[in-house]
Amino acid sequence: MLYIGNHTSSSKGYEAMAKQMIKNGGNTFAFFTRNPRGGKAKDIDPADVEKFRILIREQGFGKLVAHAPYTLNACAAKENLRVFAKETMAEDLNRMELIPGNYYNFHPGSHVGQGTQIGIEKIADVLNTVLTNEQSTTVLLETMAGKGSEVGGTFEEIKEILDLVEKKDKMGVCLDTCHVWDGGYDIADHLDEVLEEFDRVIGLKRLKAIHLNDSQNEMGSHKDRHARIGEGKIGLKALARVVCHPALEGIPFILETPNDDDGWTAEIALLKDQYAAGLEKRNL
Ligand code: FE
Ligand code: FE
Ligand code: ZN
Repeated sequence: MLYIGNHTSSSKGYEAMAKQMIKNGGNTFAFFTRNPRGGKAKDIDPADVEKFRILIREQGFGKLVAHAPYTLNACAAKENLRVFAKETMAEDLNRMELIPGNYYNFHPGSHVGQGTQIGIEKIADVLNTVLTNEQSTTVLLETMAGKGSEVGGTFEEIKEILDLVEKKDKMGVCLDTCHVWDGGYDIADHLDEVLEEFDRVIGLKRLKAIHLNDSQNEMGSHKDRHARIGEGKIGLKALARVVCHPALEGIPFILETPNDDDGWTAEIALLKDQYAAGLEKRNL
């Protein structure tokens, strides 16, 4: 089963987001838990959430991948920024219980000159503060491009964070194809080897979601500029192999490509075709 959708820009409520995704041909999606640049979260309408839950159950949606605001920096040097990160994540995780059992993805953060090791420890500290035994949400660390002082640009750094988290069963990883490519992992010509490396360093059972993006830049550029599927340096063939890879079967694929709904509709249709063709090949 292929679960695919896009990061929806809609902010008209949960039911509206799901309806838009059905229009786009998708069966999962991502959304910001609040304004991507931070700020207060909107009040949730319980009637909207109820309609939404019925709709996605009927339509057989895969797990959703909520995204924390970009401004959240769990390893900021300034304490007030780390307090903001803790408060925001704790509040978001609380709200996520209205739609239980889904994913909450966040960027590990930027160490802003403190060094990677300090960054890793601070990120783990935030997670050890906010994770609860009661939560049904799995929190995902996103693999990063290693731009500037970003932490999480290598599988090793992600693994080091996970090692320091106490409630490991609440944690997973979201692999962003643009980010790992920009980070120096050759998913275009050596996908099997990259996934083997992921398995060796982190463990494939921790891989819970894929952000499916092409990249405007060369492998190892550490830039993080997403391109539409097939319009970047990774290319359609390679991204289709990602979608069809047996090791990634059943996990949600989220497009974060620079598009409008028409563009995402076309990309979703294209990748569904590629998946169907890949399945046929596998079954020969
Ligand atoms: Fe992201
Ligand atoms: Fe991403
Ligand atoms: Zn990105």
